[in-house]
Amino acid sequence: MTDQAVGIERMAKKTTGTPQSQTTSTTRTRAPDKKTPERAPTPETTPTDPAIGTVQPESAAVRIGATTTSVIKKTATRKTSKVSDSKTPPVRAGAAERASEVKAPVPVETLDEPPPMHTETAAETEAVSATIAPETETPVVNATDDPPVGSETETEAEHITKPEPRPFSELGHAPTHALMPAFGSTPEPESPTGHEEPWHAPEPQWEPAAPPVWRPSLFIVHITPELATVAKVGGLADVVFGLTRELAIRGNHVEIILPKYASLRYDQIFELHEVYKDLWVPWYEGAIHCTVFFGFVHGRKCFFIEPHSADDFFNRHSIYGFRDDVMRYAFFSRAAIEFLWKAGKHPDIIHCHDWQTALVPVHLFEQYQALGMTHPRVCTTIHNFAHQGITGPELLRATGLHRPEHFFSHTRLGDPRYPNALNLLKGGIVYSNFVTTVSPRYAFETKDQGQGFGLEPVLHTHHIKYGGVVNGIDYDVWNPEVDRHIPVRYGIDSLERKYDNKRALRQRLMLADNEKAIVAFIGRLDPQKGLELVRHAIFNTLERGAQFVLLGSSPDDRINADFWGLKRMLNDSPDCHLEIGFDEDLSHLIYAGADMMLVPSRFEPCGLTQLISLRYGTIPVVRAVGGLADTVFDKDHSNRPLHERNGYVFNDYDHRGLESALGRAIDCYNDYPEHFRELMKNAMRCDYSWNQPGQDYLNIYDYIRDA
Ligand code: ADP
Repeated sequence: MTDQAVGIERMAKKTTGTPQSQTTSTTRTRAPDKKTPERAPTPETTPTDPAIGTVQPESAAVRIGATTTSVIKKTATRKTSKVSDSKTPPVRAGAAERASEVKAPVPVETLDEPPPMHTETAAETEAVSATIAPETETPVVNATDDPPVGSETETEAEHITKPEPRPFSELGHAPTHALMPAFGSTPEPESPTGHEEPWHAPEPQWEPAAPPVWRPSLFIVHITPELATVAKVGGLADVVFGLTRELAIRGNHVEIILPKYASLRYDQIFELHEVYKDLWVPWYEGAIHCTVFFGFVHGRKCFFIEPHSADDFFNRHSIYGFRDDVMRYAFFSRAAIEFLWKAGKHPDIIHCHDWQTALVPVHLFEQYQALGMTHPRVCTTIHNFAHQGITGPELLRATGLHRPEHFFSHTRLGDPRYPNALNLLKGGIVYSNFVTTVSPRYAFETKDQGQGFGLEPVLHTHHIKYGGVVNGIDYDVWNPEVDRHIPVRYGIDSLERKYDNKRALRQRLMLADNEKAIVAFIGRLDPQKGLELVRHAIFNTLERGAQFVLLGSSPDDRINADFWGLKRMLNDSPDCHLEIGFDEDLSHLIYAGADMMLVPSRFEPCGLTQLISLRYGTIPVVRAVGGLADTVFDKDHSNRPLHERNGYVFNDYDHRGLESALGRAIDCYNDYPEHFRELMKNAMRCDYSWNQPGQDYLNIYDYIRDA
């Protein structure tokens, strides 16, 4: 019998009994903070830490290297993708003729100290507004203030209906409603209906889309190590791809700066050409010659920086995974800001991403502001606190920041855990005008729940400029109605066609064609993703009479080897396929063909797999952490209205929690297909486009421009 027929037949079955369920989410209360925004970056001026010693090895974990595999069923050929690169010495001083071409930055010793930041204690927080940048008119944000709406004039607005700006009273203390999680103060109720009654989600009462808010157009530059579809390792690439387009279609001028990797997908870059031939970037006592290229990536305006030096910073086979990663990206950060300055670009906003670009605001406020770059404000987004760019004093010599006693201070780049180390991500937090992470829950977890990998105190100090915005996904790419990677397109009104994709997936992976549910996992094989639970889920799923599909890879050979072992063990199972590798095309088919998507992460800043799954009507089964908790609401136990429930959630990182949620999902699929179908529709109705996050980021930009 086909799945379509099964689905229709199941729809006709009468429902009885109540599957096991599990309470899913914690409840906490959190009072909103009311703080004064600050105008300038906020390193504190407290006595500096003179401790400078030996170089600490870069401890930030290396993220996945992208490798592509073709699907070869039941072959267990070990892939060895990891290649380490030996460090080559940087170009040194002495190239006098080159140095003379460099417009040397003003020696940092002559620059002003950054504006003083009062060291906060809990009792003193109310006094902060009076302490920060007292010479500026710092607007005090309170429930009655209007938001800063920029410098619009009547003439500019003549032909545009100008709606009332959203008052801050609606937004809380921060410029976006999404900044910190609002935990319910009441415990979650038991399932109101169980399965005694047929489970019909009421029709959602959607609010009409708000009219576009008038605002002056901004010049926004994103500086990033990754960009889909040309340089993708993980979710960061998708985020920059989606957010930049959303900002552009809202009328802003958006540009992107990234390294010119040898591994770029050049077939995805249009009209690539040289635009700045001789960019000399200060490095140690000399400078490195770079060329800057311009090209369009699916309409996005991109500048690619190509250094010419013996270091071959970006002329390598993969994006990350090298011993000199910190130096590579320190150079990129310096080159990006040098390019902006030399090219005479004065963006309103520079938006940086992760530790790789976290030195940009440090350079801006320590060096380039004195050279006339006083206009830009910096927003830094942290996509994962596990990677921080920890290094030693050599960095200061290379980047021209010098003054170790200044930068090793615990109020600047001094690492909170290793006294002799510098922490680039910390520098990004201290020096940026605003810092976001990728979900409100993760913002809370990193600041208050010990998930900040040592940066919790820094986040507390800078909490008034810190918050979370849930990522969106690009519905032009991830949308089963238009997806060109899947054999049969479908939508909420043609859900049965999803099962044609399920059949295609089985065919491609040589799985048995039967009535069973398909549970999938797509992701980096990183301990962060809950690999023990993934492993357990494979066996548990098979025991429960369902099928399992995994697509993932790791830069760590031991992890890859583990999963290759597992793959060999399950080689003869007609209900299981593990694909070890990176395969964008296959991922689309899995999103479309699977029934459930497992995301059992230990921690998850936002997570895109559950957002994509929702769009494809593939029900997420997730652990309640980070962005997963912000976006997936349990079918049986959420306190959300029925029509907003869209998946299965468990709390505890253990087998019991996983089995309970996975069991409920599979039971519902088998025994209550009409409930499952309602759940699929709820999932597909969710709006996790860039619409709301785009607005949130614009609110943040306005806030830091006007603060
Ligand atoms: P992270 O950024 O931590 O890797 P996210 O969930 O934010 O995780 O984003 C992962 C993105 O990478 C998703 O778009 C997912 O589909 C994709 N992805 C992860 N692993 C693979 C793989 N092996 N093959 C294809 N796509 C993958």
